[in-house]
Amino acid sequence: MTSIMDSLQYLKGVGPKRYERLKSLGLYTVRDLLEYYPRSYDDQSNFKKLYNCVENEKASFDVLVTGVGENRRVRKNLSITSFYIEDDSGRGIMSFFNMPYLKDKIILDRRYLLNGKISYFHGQAQVSNPKIELKEKSSEIGNIMPIYALKKGITNNDILKLVKQVINLDLFEEFLPEEIIKKYKLMSKNEAIREIHFPTNRRNYLLARNRLVFEELFLFQLNIFQIKNIDKDLKAFSMNANKKVYDFINSLPFKLTKGQNGALEEIFSDMQSGKRMNRLLQGDVGSGKTIIAIISMYLAYTNGYQSTIMAPTEILAKQHYESFINLLQPLGVNVELLVGSTTKKNKERILEDIQKGKIDIVIGTHALLEENVRFKKLGLNITDEQHRFGVRQRENLNTKSNYAHTLVMTATPIPRTLALIIYGDLSISTINTMPPNRKEISTIAINTSMIERALNFINDEIEKGRQAYIICPLIEESEVFDLNSAIKVYEDLTQNKFRDKKVGLLHGKMSANEKNEIMELFSKGKIDIIVSTTVIEVGVNVPNASVILIYNAERFGLAQLHQLRGRVGRGEHQSYCILYNESKSEISWQRMKVMTESTDGFYIANKDMELRGSGDIFGTRQSGDVNFKIADLSRDMNILKYAQFEAKNIIDKDNKLQNDENKNLKDAMIYFYKVNYKILN
Ligand code: ADP
Ligand code: MG
Repeated sequence: MTSIMDSLQYLKGVGPKRYERLKSLGLYTVRDLLEYYPRSYDDQSNFKKLYNCVENEKASFDVLVTGVGENRRVRKNLSITSFYIEDDSGRGIMSFFNMPYLKDKIILDRRYLLNGKISYFHGQAQVSNPKIELKEKSSEIGNIMPIYALKKGITNNDILKLVKQVINLDLFEEFLPEEIIKKYKLMSKNEAIREIHFPTNRRNYLLARNRLVFEELFLFQLNIFQIKNIDKDLKAFSMNANKKVYDFINSLPFKLTKGQNGALEEIFSDMQSGKRMNRLLQGDVGSGKTIIAIISMYLAYTNGYQSTIMAPTEILAKQHYESFINLLQPLGVNVELLVGSTTKKNKERILEDIQKGKIDIVIGTHALLEENVRFKKLGLNITDEQHRFGVRQRENLNTKSNYAHTLVMTATPIPRTLALIIYGDLSISTINTMPPNRKEISTIAINTSMIERALNFINDEIEKGRQAYIICPLIEESEVFDLNSAIKVYEDLTQNKFRDKKVGLLHGKMSANEKNEIMELFSKGKIDIIVSTTVIEVGVNVPNASVILIYNAERFGLAQLHQLRGRVGRGEHQSYCILYNESKSEISWQRMKVMTESTDGFYIANKDMELRGSGDIFGTRQSGDVNFKIADLSRDMNILKYAQFEAKNIIDKDNKLQNDENKNLKDAMIYFYKVNYKILN
């Protein structure tokens, strides 16, 4: 008996090697496989008559093979084998390139199904290189076939074969409450799984999709309500906003903006309340979130508590460390940095001092999460650039103290309605004012005819002493997309245009140390231009950089372009963002226009939703919180509303899902949680 939790290694055709490859796609169990929904479909269900198509139409045909035409060597590397075929619309030809053996394989006077492109040569129908199946044994032609996202070493067919082994076993137990299934006329889970892999028709596909989207959003909402419910009652240290804190605020070299003051008020009130703060601080790039973190941590300090701030990269952690030292060391606060590259000896001392309470503020990376980091009296955990982390890490830091508050900060501008959904378990503060006297970054979008001028412009800026970023979408040149890869651009620019400049290369396949080194050189002004993929770190601050040029800008989400643009305009110099749009499509120019018209992250995020759908906004969350398997909030907002409504209903009646009737639901929810927060396997 097969069960959904069985390991895939027990399926036919899965040896150790293939199992490893499946795992690399995140497929461990039969369940993972069945919930690995197709990325798209190849519709081979569209049957046409030979003489009822337009030129170059792709369709399926049901034909009789009536004769072998010829087996012809056209040139050295090309042979053509052709056959006569017919259906009741007339007689045509089917031909294959470089498959002479077919002459002996295809049987005359039998019916075959073909799928391929048809053309008309002197009025005669010709199907070239079709997919072909003997009609009585056909398995694909005539059906809508799934296309899966793949990785090297695994073919679509590999996955297809495995799915077929288990798809008809009805392995899932229904977990959605019956009332809900009835009310929304949802397809059963097993049927939906079958139809999503092998749709029998378009209508059933949509019904299957609806069911699975509902399920996903419903479980997601249940999770969030559940977390919120648990968090609501958690106690935490109560801390007072005292005179010292206000004196510190008044001593800052600038006045806080209205948005910053508002956020602080909310944070102070949480930290005083005796209940655990669980707050998201949202604010556009450059809106000044760091100082909010510093003030909040100083508040914890003046109340006798330790605090931490965790950043996604060492570069960013080091930058924070310097800002913190500048402002807080004069006030007697002990600040330490703890990152992966901290030497063993130093680390031992730091760990000991943290435990003894000698260190008040620890700034670090993932290194902070290690088990041997123990605190004397931890009162506040802050995570910077939260969208770069998973929820799991947030929780882990919390386990270091039973009564610590949590603040997470993000620059990903998400419209409030969406934020409420995705971060539904958190209270939200938003900084929607920018510090005064910011020079607007001038943004222009260019096409191929202007790239030379753009590069000259960058050259001029460098001669003035500035620095530049050049961003490309991929690392290596890909055969599939003709994108400008970072390596190719780097090689081209260093050999030609910027031969006499210092150019550095940065991409995701480099080690953390190599990346740090390059960033440090750039930061110190020892490199003029950095050519990079999007690994260029969010939050990095090099005030002397004044231009960013983005190749294939059409390939990026607007939210991501906005983040990238935020790398410049951080100092006193007028800064520029050049979007090199290599697409001619109308929509891509509309999207560029949004970027050139506005530097307001929230406006951009909203526009992006309108133009492209929310997938994009979620795309920028990367390793962040949730990756929906099938839901797409740009098209599924309606389903989301119902899912949210029903989830709330259930939680209101049984907030811990302890009732018997909710047992299956609870299991499904826990599974969903584990999968999404990657604590499985
Ligand atoms: P982000 O929100 O992107 O993390 P930062 O905290 O790095 O932004 O702030 C960007 C810059 O703005 C920093 O140099 C910071 O000192 C400065 N800054 C922050 N708040 C103010 C303010 N109220 N007035 C003027 N400058 C400010
Ligand atoms: Mg920041």
